[in-house]
Amino acid sequence: MGRFSALSKGLAWPSQCRVCGLWPAQPLCTACRRRFAPVRPRCPHCAAPVDGASPCPCLAQAVESALAACAVAVDYVYPWDRLIARFKFQGEPGWAKPFARLMLDAPGATALLDGADWIAPVPLTPARLAERGHHPPWELARALARLHPRPTLAGTLVRLSDGLAQHRLARQERLRNLQGAFAVPIDGLQRLRGARVLLVDDVTTTGATLAAAAQALRAAGAARVDALVFARTPAPHER
Ligand SMILES: [Zn+2]
Ligand SMILES: [Zn+2]
Repeated sequence: MGRFSALSKGLAWPSQCRVCGLWPAQPLCTACRRRFAPVRPRCPHCAAPVDGASPCPCLAQAVESALAACAVAVDYVYPWDRLIARFKFQGEPGWAKPFARLMLDAPGATALLDGADWIAPVPLTPARLAERGHHPPWELARALARLHPRPTLAGTLVRLSDGLAQHRLARQERLRNLQGAFAVPIDGLQRLRGARVLLVDDVTTTGATLAAAAQALRAAGAARVDALVFARTPAPHER
């Protein structure tokens, strides 16, 4: 039970691996990193795992998406689901840095960062921000910018509402539900004109939120929008 004990007991020691309990270690020891965050080949557009034999089914729709490319660090499974919950819901902002390190190691991530004029966190609604008291995507964006210096963009993309509860909808419904959920205030237009923007988020499930945010940025004049996300929920057939 050793590997669960540290996770369930919480942050017993600041220098203990939070997954296996190894001490002294970084928040994630090298062995856990290797074991739980294997670098796997993914589709450069939707970040679904690919085996290389057949093209990703998303390629048929990629031209329609406002999101050009997406890189992802890990699958949203153990232990990341629990660590993300601590980061997002239990106010442990210290996870931003180790998560950002893993994001940098995602295939294609450094090329996306190098090409970006701006790193932009996917915004939360004001209600969600008030409820959480902190902004996990913004903390990830800042941690990334510290590790791989790029200018960050705050407040240029805003989130108006979530519409219906997203998790109860299929992808097409989510996309429809999110239309108009993001907007760019007029004073942000100049910064976006012709720019390449890299959206940063903690978790993506269907990609609908990223696509809607990308659509708003493109409509506001951005030349290209990509995404770098910490974790992606695997589809049922990928588990
Ligand atoms: Zn460990
Ligand atoms: Zn794909």
